[in-house]
Amino acid sequence: MKSGANLKSLLEDLTSQLPDLVLTLEAFVRTESPSTEKVAADACAEVIAKEWRKREVHVELFEQKHRGAHLRITCASGDGHTARSQLLVLGHYDTVYCTGTLAKMPFRIAAGCVYGPGVFDMKAGIVQALFALDAIRRCGATLKKRIVFLWTSDEEIGSESSRKLIESEAKRSDAVFVLEPALGPKGLLKTARKGVGEAEIIVDGRASHAGLAPEKGVNAIHELSLQLARLMEWNDLPRGISINAGLIEGGTRPNVIPDRARAILDLRALRSNDMQKIEKRLRGLQPILRGAKIEVHGGFNRAPLERKISAELFQRALSLAKQMGFAIGEATAGGGSDGNLTAALGVPTLDGLGAVGDGAHSSSEYILARTMPQRAALLAALLLHS
Ligand SMILES: [Zn+2]
Repeated sequence: MKSGANLKSLLEDLTSQLPDLVLTLEAFVRTESPSTEKVAADACAEVIAKEWRKREVHVELFEQKHRGAHLRITCASGDGHTARSQLLVLGHYDTVYCTGTLAKMPFRIAAGCVYGPGVFDMKAGIVQALFALDAIRRCGATLKKRIVFLWTSDEEIGSESSRKLIESEAKRSDAVFVLEPALGPKGLLKTARKGVGEAEIIVDGRASHAGLAPEKGVNAIHELSLQLARLMEWNDLPRGISINAGLIEGGTRPNVIPDRARAILDLRALRSNDMQKIEKRLRGLQPILRGAKIEVHGGFNRAPLERKISAELFQRALSLAKQMGFAIGEATAGGGSDGNLTAALGVPTLDGLGAVGDGAHSSSEYILARTMPQRAALLAALLLHS
């Protein structure tokens, strides 16, 4: 499998499979799988597991108490030995849509686009991985490494129950390929992702009558406002740093000096050292008004996926795509994924290898059907040449 011609036959083979790719996608999308509905999610895990069990692979379901089961599929290397090295293909089957969404947002195909809840983020990615493996086998190529496919159930709600499993598989792997959707209809791979966090600032002041004893009060809302004005200045959009006060509350009535106020912040940073700097500054916040107290909770929960972690894999993807006769591009994503978790461990990670389409998390979510074989072929080529 060294020559461009062989890679091209891989793509041709997958192109001939397009109707089956779409049929499998339909089965996955018609089984709704919201992160927060365990019964539904488990049923979807079973539908996906059933497809993989048809192949000669080892399928395991990791049952969760409150979430759908995580799926681990292991495919032995082709030399008959237990390979010591491993490649990880990562994704999630949960969606942001509650059950019943399918009735308003049905699975449908129109003008080459496939619509439905979770079609783009990211059930098409799982289908492409399945067919990539089939194509590798049909072309008779030998896998040099063990491949582990991990399909988790809680990416959309922060990966609490899957994080350990993701990290332990990533640590065993030479590279991680994340089948999250590509960016936009051009299908850009995600070679960098911002780190994401959430912090809460709680201010304690002192209540008093706003008219009779204003001098006795410490206004928690005023204190919080002063702090937020300061935090606003930490924003540095060209550098990829953003701090957004997304929720604020405090006070009871206009004539009462409020003794409590709080804000919840969304935090983003493109560089690890910026992330650390922001966390340090948050923890170091000092009250501005005399008598006020400040507490800060939270911080970053996903470190950035820095471009240097994906650079080499992206170069490889570029060259493989070129040999197959198509072009790919790259982009930086403002949002996090489980790729951030594996990149934070220093494991080479390439994200956005999944479906090409647009409209994630919206009623217009779609993928471009004709891009599925290309994407599957690119993954197959990466698995053979990494
Ligand atoms: Zn996703």
